[in-house]
Amino acid sequence: MPRPILATIHSAALQHNLARARQAAPDALVWAVVKANAYGHGIERVFDALRAADGFALLDLAEAERVRALGWRGPILLLEGVFEPRDLELCSRLGLWHAVHCDEQIDWLAAHKTQAPHRVFLKMNSGMNRLGFTPERYRAAWARLNALTQVDEISFMTHFSDADGPRGTDHQMAVFRQATQDLPGERSVCNSAATLRQGSDPAVRGDWVRAGIVLYGSAPDHPERTAADWGLLSAMTLSSRIIGVQHLQPGDTVGYGSSFTADRAMTIGIVACGYADGYPRHCSTGTPVLVNGTPTRLVGRVSMDMLNVDLTSVPGAGIGSEVTLWGRSSSGAVQPIDEVARAGATIGYELMCALAQRVPVALAD
Ligand SMILES: *Cc1c(COP(=O)(O)O)cnc(C)c1O
Repeated sequence: MPRPILATIHSAALQHNLARARQAAPDALVWAVVKANAYGHGIERVFDALRAADGFALLDLAEAERVRALGWRGPILLLEGVFEPRDLELCSRLGLWHAVHCDEQIDWLAAHKTQAPHRVFLKMNSGMNRLGFTPERYRAAWARLNALTQVDEISFMTHFSDADGPRGTDHQMAVFRQATQDLPGERSVCNSAATLRQGSDPAVRGDWVRAGIVLYGSAPDHPERTAADWGLLSAMTLSSRIIGVQHLQPGDTVGYGSSFTADRAMTIGIVACGYADGYPRHCSTGTPVLVNGTPTRLVGRVSMDMLNVDLTSVPGAGIGSEVTLWGRSSSGAVQPIDEVARAGATIGYELMCALAQRVPVALAD
């Protein structure tokens, strides 16, 4: 028998979450953001559930090829545009739309020979200071693109630094709006957090929203809001089983570094899941976990292949019992990935993306 760890991708949850994104931004077109191999879920695994999206957005040209290979003929957007001139050949061949965020990308387009002109998304740095033209240089970039025969449609995009937090999006929206106000074309500004929190405002949502984490069922603004608050369903379950049991006496310690000491008699279960599976090593005693669908906690350090859970409050648990690290147990109880991420001082995004290669993955409803 293989090691009992398993990741399960839930198609029905993906479909549900896509519908939630649509509902949150009525009338907007929805990009399903599937970069990083669909946030660790697998592009091929999520494709059917997400094909009701209006387009797929990603960064990696090889991933764009995979989406076309699945038969998708609709829009695909390269969120960072091309990385070198010859990438434009693939854009022409596969009909990829691409972001343009720097003058070099415009130079490359100007030198590119293509029969079919490209659609581009001109990216503004409206305050995040990552990719994009500053507002002062944005119009000049637009004018250059507009003069190229290689380009037939220019849309406008920017990215928010604080859509999930107290600073919000107003300061960036003001900059973006002012610099684009009389330019003709579609707009795309909202990530998941902005879609959920402000998608109902027509002045913010624009023509296309870029839905990433929302599709996978994690709350972009956890812990202020939870996935349940937003009506999202977790699209990934990481589950395993108990492969060992230890009965501890007061004073006994657990695992590397003896970081946990029992203060009373207790029973712990050893779970076939460790940091080499993608479970965060920073999660320490107290991190929530489900055993047979019952909430309990991690004890001691996470090791490479195993971790330890408290079975004192889970009567009947033993070798073979189901452990839900995150996602949905077979009894239907849910362990939100965001709570595990928080206990590990990170975010749900990172846990999904870090699911290890060695974990087998199953596709389910
Ligand atoms: C990743 C990404 C998104 C999606 O972000 P979420 O927070 O997952 O919704 C949107 N836009 C750009 C430019 C991105 O790189």
